[in-house]
Amino acid sequence: MTGREGTEGERAPLVGHGGEPFLTGVVRWLQEGVVLHDASGRIVEVTPAACELLGVPEEYLLGTIDDDVFGSEPVRTGWRLVDLEGELFDPEQAPSSITARTGEPATAVMGVHRPDGTQVWLGLFSVPIPVGDGEAPWVISTFVDITARIEAEKRLSESEQRFRLTLQHAPIGMAIVGLDGTYLEVNPELAKMLGRTPQQLVGSTFQAVTHPDDLEGDLALSQQVLDGRIDSFEMEKRFLTPDGSVVWGHLAVAVVRDPEGRPLHFVSQVEDITEARRARELLAEGVLFDPLTGLANRVLTADRLRQAVARNRRAGRSLALLCCGIDGLKRVNDSLGHAAGDALIATVGARIVEAVGVADRVGRGDGDEFFVVAEGIDRGVAPVELIERINEAVSAPVEVLGHELRPAVSIGVALEDEPDPAPAAHLLHDATTALFEAKGQGRGGWALFERRIRARAVQRLTIESELGPAMANGEIELHYQPIVDLDTRVPVAYEALARWRHPRHGLIMPARFIPVAEEAGLIGDLGVHVLDLACGFLGRHAESGIQVFVNVSPSQLGPGFFPSVVASALGRHGVEPTRLGIELTESTVLHATGSSYRALQELAELGIDLVLDDFGTGYSAIAALLATPIRGIKLDRSFTSRVGVDPQADLVTRALGGMVEALGFRGVAEGVETEAQFAAVRELGWRLGQGWLFGRPVPEGELDLSDLG
Ligand code: C2E
Ligand code: MG
Ligand code: MG
Repeated sequence: MTGREGTEGERAPLVGHGGEPFLTGVVRWLQEGVVLHDASGRIVEVTPAACELLGVPEEYLLGTIDDDVFGSEPVRTGWRLVDLEGELFDPEQAPSSITARTGEPATAVMGVHRPDGTQVWLGLFSVPIPVGDGEAPWVISTFVDITARIEAEKRLSESEQRFRLTLQHAPIGMAIVGLDGTYLEVNPELAKMLGRTPQQLVGSTFQAVTHPDDLEGDLALSQQVLDGRIDSFEMEKRFLTPDGSVVWGHLAVAVVRDPEGRPLHFVSQVEDITEARRARELLAEGVLFDPLTGLANRVLTADRLRQAVARNRRAGRSLALLCCGIDGLKRVNDSLGHAAGDALIATVGARIVEAVGVADRVGRGDGDEFFVVAEGIDRGVAPVELIERINEAVSAPVEVLGHELRPAVSIGVALEDEPDPAPAAHLLHDATTALFEAKGQGRGGWALFERRIRARAVQRLTIESELGPAMANGEIELHYQPIVDLDTRVPVAYEALARWRHPRHGLIMPARFIPVAEEAGLIGDLGVHVLDLACGFLGRHAESGIQVFVNVSPSQLGPGFFPSVVASALGRHGVEPTRLGIELTESTVLHATGSSYRALQELAELGIDLVLDDFGTGYSAIAALLATPIRGIKLDRSFTSRVGVDPQADLVTRALGGMVEALGFRGVAEGVETEAQFAAVRELGWRLGQGWLFGRPVPEGELDLSDLG
């Protein structure tokens, strides 16, 4: 080891070529660290400042070569040396190595993770010390602590990067605009808004995409900023897209200045307000409010929702959309007329506003729906209190056209803070879907939108779109279940039950597609199709004289239309009307208003048997039945399943059986599954029965029509 002898305190001076004193003690007390490499690259001298900066004692350094110091496993020093990117420092790039190789001065920045866990950034500077012709030079390296500067630079570049990221992902349009109007940087949102790519916009000017009528105003305001009269401005202006359409934007411009106050560039933010402008125009035209309730209609509600979503997102808060549907509105419309229905809607609307407290948060949807925007709610939690308040406010009795009604609403809830924040349009859709679910839970229920429901809604959509073609393709078929004489157990009639033989999903039961068909307005077509199939069946089995009952949904009884459909189906297959029976639900019969009542009358006059299906599940009063042409009832399965075990069911079943008998009605006990039930309903006075005990619904090919009664 060259030039270093003696003990601490009386060290030999740093040694130059030839052993002559080279640098004296002064060097040892410099702020800068100094390291001296000899011609072979070994460290021959280090100063105390160097040891302190590097965080290791000098014996760790003396005698080592660069490879030892910078190696990836710096066992001796226990430190880690990194470059500005945070990568392990490449020994080849050490200024001392470069200088030794090239004979030229070299610099570098190096991060030192010291063994004690602290970290510094060092600025290194190496110069060669020529030692004579043909000999490799010695190298002297100095270094200073530049941590403060590097950290500041890093912070700056981080904040720059954050700014870039913000620009990239901002949900509104943003741009950096040169003082002459050139777009220097444009985020994807702005580009999208203007119908271009960011690349197309950068280099062009805002003047080029501004509507000519708005250019002057924009330029005048920009000039005022440049003149230092104002620092920022906002305006609503029109942009032009390549296809010539106009986009309305809310523009906010601020100027960025250098430390001396000279303007550098503009930062522009643009929010697309095309829809909002349109809504405002419509507002001016007075077409944004529902005339019945005075509340915002769907268009305005959607716009307000959009704003609320943006507002809440900015504030980092959550939002829920409630879709409230009036329970049983259809029944009120059907039984008391549309004036009563309208009065009910107006009352419920006013009560919802009262419960919410702010009319602006309530809007009218389609039909029986109201929307409520609940802002600033707890994340991920349905606003239960508000829901209860609405339910309570709505449910007080109200008199409508002389009838006392107890209104109720079912409520679907969609929360805004799903993992991927939903746009306003999704929320409207999701809340409506959830309402459908809530209605399934009975009066006054509520349901939270879940993805599961969306999946079901999608399924419903598929059914909706496939059902029409399915009829044409012959995928809908009828299965026939016997209705037997309980004395002989011989079939006296069959009930035709629809099935969908789906090419991919197999046999689909009516519970899955009938409600969808009803909702989608396809039930009329389906009903006609089923009638045609049933009449075809009857035509093919004319000699048996068997009667077939088909099920008819309430909505099928259109004005004067249905009887003619039935008549033509019968005629087409040459079938006697008396061989056809129709099963109707209680609500159809009880709420039969003028036209549907006449339809029932006409059907009965044709000679078709009308029976009431699922008797006992609704509110039918026998007395009300007498006013209709219904001449039979089918006791709901829920009674049959309880007879013999539930005295109450026995009582009702017996009483109904007696009444059916006394009125000369045809009574069928549905859902007879066991011998015990068979014995019980028979004992309770029922003459006819239907159920798995006597036969399941089967396709025509599996029927044995030879043993008919
Ligand atoms: P529904 O008219 O009350 O038909 C009786 C239902 O009970 C049938 O169900 C039948 O398969 C079932 N069932 C019969 N015996 C028993 C039994 O012993 N035990 C049990 N657990 N169930 C029994 P399905 O075929 O699933 O039909 C369900 C409902 O779909 C029908 O109820 C009817 O309201 C409706 N539907 C079926 N076909 C049509 C149609 O062509 N048009 C309309 N509008 N509705 C239909
Ligand atoms: Mg039925
Ligand atoms: Mg039934």
